Amino acid sequence: MDFRTSEHFQEDTTLLHTGRTECGLPQTVNPPIQRGSTVVVKSVDELLHSKGVTYGRHGLATHEALKRALCDLEHAEKAFVYPSGLASLTGTMLSLLETGDEMLMADSVYGPTRHFATTACKRLGITTRFFAPAISADDLKAMLSPATKLIVLESPGSLTFDMNDVPAIAAMARKAGVLTMIDNTWSAGVYFKPLDHGVDVSVQAITKYICGHSDVLMGAAMASGKAAELLQRSYDEIGWTISPDDAYQALRGFRTLPTRLIRHQESTLKVAKWLKSRPEVAELLCPALPGSRGHEIWKRDFTGTSGLFGVVLKPAPEKAVAAMLGALKIFGLGYSWGGYESLVIPSDPQLDVREFQPKYAGPLIRLHVGLENPDDLIADLENGFRHLANAAAPEKVAAE
Ligand SMILES: *Cc1c(COP(=O)(O)O)cnc(C)c1O
Repeated sequence: MDFRTSEHFQEDTTLLHTGRTECGLPQTVNPPIQRGSTVVVKSVDELLHSKGVTYGRHGLATHEALKRALCDLEHAEKAFVYPSGLASLTGTMLSLLETGDEMLMADSVYGPTRHFATTACKRLGITTRFFAPAISADDLKAMLSPATKLIVLESPGSLTFDMNDVPAIAAMARKAGVLTMIDNTWSAGVYFKPLDHGVDVSVQAITKYICGHSDVLMGAAMASGKAAELLQRSYDEIGWTISPDDAYQALRGFRTLPTRLIRHQESTLKVAKWLKSRPEVAELLCPALPGSRGHEIWKRDFTGTSGLFGVVLKPAPEKAVAAMLGALKIFGLGYSWGGYESLVIPSDPQLDVREFQPKYAGPLIRLHVGLENPDDLIADLENGFRHLANAAAPEKVAAE
């Protein structure tokens, strides 16, 4: 059916169809934002038997372009996009597990991932056991039971930046017929390629580095072979979609991703080295830094560092840490990371649920080093440390 406005339909008909004829789009650098629910086809045969896209929920041109980019980034055959990073993690677990199954999960995973396992999965009759993130593949193998179907990794882990021995664990799991998935948000997929190391599904909060501008919530799961088939099955069954405008923003983020990460890396190393020299700091949880926990694994498996790491302070009262973080002018006080801007949070409140969490020397904070000038970031932290000291010992500072 080809509507032509020149064909003198009634106005109410014309108004519905004007502007719909092929408009010979000029070829722009970027793909168009293709919005749509209904997809119209040429014949009943195509409608009933097409293997292509016959409905907007299957994903349109902008989605396809983003999925292509995600596959190229993660060396995967297929990519699936979800309305948040958390949805991509929970969606992957739902795709790979059934009632009666068990999963083994690194103790240091992103808090809401753990929450999903211990609440929704539990209600569905799926059990979870946790393991210390630095576990060897042999010790993890000893934990497998006949019900174990999935191992959930995150390296470095959220908040504490523990590294998993991903290649050894993935090889052990594959031999045992157990699937593996990893939250690869920290590396942005640029600095670590989980599928090349034998992991079945790599999941990312696109919200973070790929979008890169703190204005979109999105997640993605990348996989090949059997794991991709399982993800596709649930994707068709459950009905996740994302808006094409968001897909466009994610794709735009791709264009500057490698360049942004170079800057994040340079500034992170500069800020971390400065912090290491400070008397207020007990330990850095920054795998890229020699001497940090997990540094050897990071050096072996990763090709760079992003901008997120932990700082263990020397013992200080909670209110002094709050005074420090509140005094920072560039580091915003807020959850999330991966955008262009620097952020900070206190991490201790989120560690209580863990089973294998070592005690640190003092309070733990998490920094996201953004794209600002690193000298300004250092000056901001230096000012923060003055407030830390001030709040910890007001008499002494007042007397100076
Ligand atoms: C933020 C984050 C997520 C969740 O992403 P959302 O888009 O906020 O749901 C998942 N994993 C890690 C490691 C994260 O930091």
